[in-house]
Amino acid sequence: MEKRKIIFLDKDGTIIPDIPYNVNPALISLYSGVSDSLPVLQKAGYEFIIVTNQSGIAKGYFSEQQLTQVKIEIEQLFADIGVSLLDFYYCPHEESVHTEKSCGCRKPFPGMLQNAALKHNLSLEDCWMIGDILNDVEAGNRASCKTILLDRGNESFDNTYGENRVPDIYALHFPHAVQSILNFDNKNKNYEKLTDNRIIFKKKSPSNWRLNH
Ligand SMILES: [Mg+2]
Ligand SMILES: [Zn+2]
Repeated sequence: MEKRKIIFLDKDGTIIPDIPYNVNPALISLYSGVSDSLPVLQKAGYEFIIVTNQSGIAKGYFSEQQLTQVKIEIEQLFADIGVSLLDFYYCPHEESVHTEKSCGCRKPFPGMLQNAALKHNLSLEDCWMIGDILNDVEAGNRASCKTILLDRGNESFDNTYGENRVPDIYALHFPHAVQSILNFDNKNKNYEKLTDNRIIFKKKSPSNWRLNH
């Protein structure tokens, strides 16, 4: 059986603009680079799972039903570009409980990815995680996925240290991330050049990585 090729996507700041705690479907839109390039990945055989921290539920800012409306809206936006969403995972817990013991699902912990792997029978080392902050990268690395930091200016880089906080690939925009995935998985020659010399072949120490950033 052919391996499933899954791309875990962070939601806010990665596929849609980050409007803090927004659950109004009318305010949700895909970044143009996302709507342009998700179909390319789907044609290449990839499937998509959203993994999102939603502490607004624990804080009482919105309900799980309201978040379901967000999921439905995103499914519709995906459908509009001919793409399907395989699954949608969220952590409803607060930042204050973000220890592995009390909540293993809030990124940077890998619980959502691991739960998806169990449900969908995935080999996580063949999957990718794309996110706009290093907590996404760490969750992906802890789950043994390949990881991409999509730098939209949302990561302060104040806390870069730790092996788990080094992405495999650093991308400047979503199509760049997509091209990097295709080049990497297809083992294209010169893929480093093809992706603007920003692919990191081996995980470098965070301090080196900062220099290359
Ligand atoms: Mg984000
Ligand atoms: Zn959680």
